[in-house]
This record gives sequence, C-alpha cells and structure tokens, in this order.
Amino acid sequence: MAALSFAESIRSKYPSILSHGIEISDIQIGWEKLIKEMLNEIMLQPDHASIKITHIKQKFASLRVHYDGYVSESIKQIIEKTVTRADSTCEFCECQTTRIASVNFWQRMCCVRCEKEKTPLDTPYGD
Ligand SMILES: [Zn+2]
Repeated sequence: MAALSFAESIRSKYPSILSHGIEISDIQIGWEKLIKEMLNEIMLQPDHASIKITHIKQKFASLRVHYDGYVSESIKQIIEKTVTRADSTCEFCECQTTRIASVNFWQRMCCVRCEKEKTPLDTPYGD
C-alpha cells in the first residue's frame, strides 16, 4: 500500500481546520514535522473550528500559512511561532540553520550539506 503523501495525510487528519480546497505547495520533508505540530496545537484550541487554513506553502525560503475565518490571538501565535521556527530549520533535513541558499534556482532555507546534496556537481550551465 502506498504511503500517503504529506498533503494527503494532513488533509485526512485535520479536516476540521483545513479548507476543502486547501493548497499545500512546495513543502519539503524538513518542515513537515513543524507543520504537523502546528496543526496538532491548533486542534487543541477551544476555538479551532473557526479557522480554515487555505494555503500552506514555501515562498522565498519562508513558510506561509494563509487562512480564512475568525482566528483568535492564541491561534495566530501558534502560526507565528511555527513560521519563526521554519526560519531557522533546514527545509530538507530539519537541522537548525538560518542559511538561505539557491537550490535549483529556488531560494530555500537550506544547510550547507543539503545544498551540496541537492545541487548536481555537473550541472551544465550552458554558454
Ligand atoms: Zn539540511
């Protein structure tokens, strides 16, 4: 049986706080745990049913979480804390880094080791 993708697994686990049409784009494995912890924490809030998260994505090496609905200060703080944690977490290996690197032309929060791993040594930069 194929394992669920990250997007499928959170859609099935947190349906009450995610919009039906939620988009989850460009999230690498190193941030998946942070996002799951954020969703778990939101679920523990008494007013969690009021939020509908519409988009979770990476842009310019930072985590973006968009939502609709009335959102209490405590839920806002959970989201802000998670975005701040992502600002010091490698997108690929979860190690602590605040390093932004260009990986295949995209800006990413990425440690030196992952950048080396992700960048082919013999990329044919055309001339
Ligand atoms: Zn890394």
